[in-house]
Amino acid sequence: MKRILSAIQPTGSIHYGNYLGAIQNWVKLQSDYHCVYGVVDYHAMTMHYQPAKLRENTWEIIFSLLALGIHKENLFIQSLVPEHTELGWIFNCFCSYGELSRMTQFKDKSDQVKDIDKDAFVSAGLFDYPVLQAADILIYKADYVPVGKDQEQHLELARNIASRFNSAVSSDYFVLPEAMFTEALKIRSLADPQKKMSKSLGEKHYLSVFEEEAQIRKKVGSAVTDDGTEQDKGTMSPGVENLFVMLKACGDLSLYNDLWNQYHDPQLKLSYKDLKQSVADALVAETNLFKLRKKEILVEKKDIKNQIKESSAEIRKIAQQTLKEVKELAGLQNLRY
Ligand code: ATP
Ligand code: MG
Repeated sequence: MKRILSAIQPTGSIHYGNYLGAIQNWVKLQSDYHCVYGVVDYHAMTMHYQPAKLRENTWEIIFSLLALGIHKENLFIQSLVPEHTELGWIFNCFCSYGELSRMTQFKDKSDQVKDIDKDAFVSAGLFDYPVLQAADILIYKADYVPVGKDQEQHLELARNIASRFNSAVSSDYFVLPEAMFTEALKIRSLADPQKKMSKSLGEKHYLSVFEEEAQIRKKVGSAVTDDGTEQDKGTMSPGVENLFVMLKACGDLSLYNDLWNQYHDPQLKLSYKDLKQSVADALVAETNLFKLRKKEILVEKKDIKNQIKESSAEIRKIAQQTLKEVKELAGLQNLRY
């Protein structure tokens, strides 16, 4: 079986961008591939964070992923597999400063930090995190990486690091991982549709897949759209397009087609209030199901924590083997295992 690796940061709750752009697909892939999915807590330290909240979010994401249909044995927590950071260091030496400077996520996220406070601390970890991400992928010798469009550039970097390492040690040790974009949608922030929906942007920007009904209605109701002139011109603003994308992904298709036609028919005018109402209804129906499954999971919380520690230990064996081989190739010393 070909292997797949993907990961999510424990920086907040799982939102519709994560779900529609990644996790929905992760669930399906489990039947045809050997899937390894990480909750990458080392990455969540790259921006301002609180230790207790990080610990809580890590488990929260684990419980959420299980409720969304990810199998326990496919899940690991990154800090339970310390080989990632060791390989990350090695890869730092095969990645240039210039390459990292070109990563748009770094620009976006450092701007985000500075928007709040222009003298804010931008960590070297934030600059360097794509290298750790390359280690996350390559340590499992993943064949495919199902990423959202926002991560495409990072995967390209991982491929560059792998081939640079290969030529430095004169081997074809790493097979270059490929991106898998099956139906990956990009969801935008409701409050600022110029930006993608992100956990780290803060709660008003994202819609959790476990969000309470009243909150969903409130957030969707106040989603940024436009004043209607775009509709007259026959173009579509990012905010309205985002609502259509979510409706299509969660709602019934005939309703979607109906509203879509109303938007594009010059004789009619689609009311954004109606569109929002339909989006909110579709989201509420879907979240109810997710919340129910999460409730069941939480009953067995304690057992699940132990099982995830075990699955992490099992997955770690692959990482240990890779690191051992890499150190050998790189001229480093290995302890006898
Ligand atoms: P953070 O703000 O901490 O970076 P995030 O919301 O961007 O959080 P990640 O943990 O970085 O989420 O990403 C998890 C997965 O979700 C990745 O595969 C990523 O490509 C995908 N993803 C994240 N945001 C979106 C989005 N708005 N639309 C589609 N896919 C997304
Ligand atoms: Mg992200």
